[in-house]
Amino acid sequence: MADQAYVTLATNDEYAKGAMVLGTSLRNHNTTKQLVALIGPHVAEPCRAVLNCIYDEVCVVDIWDSGDTAQLALMKRPDLGVTFTKLHCWTLTHYTKCVFMDADTLVLSNIDELFEREELSAAPDPGWPDCFNSGVFVFKPSNETHRSLVTHCTEKGSFDGGDQGVLNSFFNTWSTADISKHLPFIYNLSSISIYTYLPAFQKYGHEAKVVHFLGKLKPWNYSYDTQTGKVKGHTLTPGSGDLHPDFLVQWWNVYSSEVLPALR
Ligand code: UDP
Ligand code: MN
Repeated sequence: MADQAYVTLATNDEYAKGAMVLGTSLRNHNTTKQLVALIGPHVAEPCRAVLNCIYDEVCVVDIWDSGDTAQLALMKRPDLGVTFTKLHCWTLTHYTKCVFMDADTLVLSNIDELFEREELSAAPDPGWPDCFNSGVFVFKPSNETHRSLVTHCTEKGSFDGGDQGVLNSFFNTWSTADISKHLPFIYNLSSISIYTYLPAFQKYGHEAKVVHFLGKLKPWNYSYDTQTGKVKGHTLTPGSGDLHPDFLVQWWNVYSSEVLPALR
């Protein structure tokens, strides 16, 4: 459907690699929705060219130059730069409904059924399940909502310094109001929860539809041996902050076979 889209964000070349893999994974699972990448002005030309091949729309969002309310707000809260950029997704009003996905997510099967959900639908955060994780969420673009979010963000700040804190205090009835807005965890399986509840992962892990490489270490921080198909520098120690080796290999398979050839 032309009026529905997946949206991601990459402010630099590193996250752009993530966005390339995410977009490719959505295409590989035959999405019928539009794909939109919001990019920062510093994303280099070769990356933009690849993103343009994968995504229907690549929008450069430069909050400093836009001269809108977000720019004024940002002057008061420079610490929330990336957060303001993510909130920009609400201004995509040529779509009636969207699903935002972090650039560090990977799609494992078709998830177009998410568009049956309403704003704001999201999965629980593994660290604090009364909050939703803002790596995958369903939203309805609206300039009015965007303005309110920016005002909220400027006046109240973010309790965690990022977009997840702002969005959870703005959509503050998420945990209690409507269970249909709770996405199953399989739509945002955080790589860190695998080791914190291994038996649950062993029982339900095969149902995962989206894996989220949440945390400091991202798939692109590792390296990959194309000869052996193995990810290097992985310690396989639970709790070490390492990402799950199977999902990491899946990310690298897409990156090395479908993204890297286009980047060269
Ligand atoms: N992001 C970005 N540039 C940055 C940091 C974050 O473009 O320097 C975007 C990107 O889409 C990323 C999202 O904001 O996936 C949220 O950040 P991150 O995934 O690093 O947070 P985590 O999920 O680990 O809490
Ligand atoms: Mn993330």
